Amino acid sequence: MTIFCVGRNYAEHAKEMNHAIPDKPVVFLKPGTALLQNNKPFYYPDFTKELHYETEIVLKISKNGKHIDEKFAHNYFNEVTVGIDFTARDLQSEQKKKGLPWEISKAFDQSAVVGKFIPLSEIKNVHELYFCLYKNRALVQKGNTKDVLFPFEKLISYVSQFFTLHKGDLLFTGTPVGVGEVKIGDKLEAFIENDTLLKFEIK
Ligand code: MG
Repeated sequence: MTIFCVGRNYAEHAKEMNHAIPDKPVVFLKPGTALLQNNKPFYYPDFTKELHYETEIVLKISKNGKHIDEKFAHNYFNEVTVGIDFTARDLQSEQKKKGLPWEISKAFDQSAVVGKFIPLSEIKNVHELYFCLYKNRALVQKGNTKDVLFPFEKLISYVSQFFTLHKGDLLFTGTPVGVGEVKIGDKLEAFIENDTLLKFEIK
């Protein structure tokens, strides 16, 4: 199972990170060992002092494919949830400054947290989906998929030009503005519309 992730897919988040608006999707990968699910606790790693949440809509790939045309890409995902792309921001800043790969700051164990997947058939419009994160019962981040720079079909098509997609792979579709820090003891709860799909604790 491969976890594909997209960076800078919301203009306001690119701005908050002082990045230019990209003209192509920014893609990176996490290994299967990054996956954390079933509301299990996240254990704060000792290699960072600045751990950030990035709340993102996550798609589950429903069939194998390569070189997928954008107009058929909607056939390649059938479930959706909300997840957290955990980022060791201090390490990432160092890696970026040196022009080095991001993996140690983005792809570490438990860095890809996913909530309960819901079938697309239960969703009115995946292109206009409100999602949000509460930290210790306070709203800290919210977004809507209508604000993406690259629609989900474009992401699937683009990623599949480089990597064969397999049924069960995941695609993190980027975070909106409002990323922030977590500390040990924080309780996180993420929603799509009014449904809690993810609820876990930082230990
Ligand atoms: Mg992200």
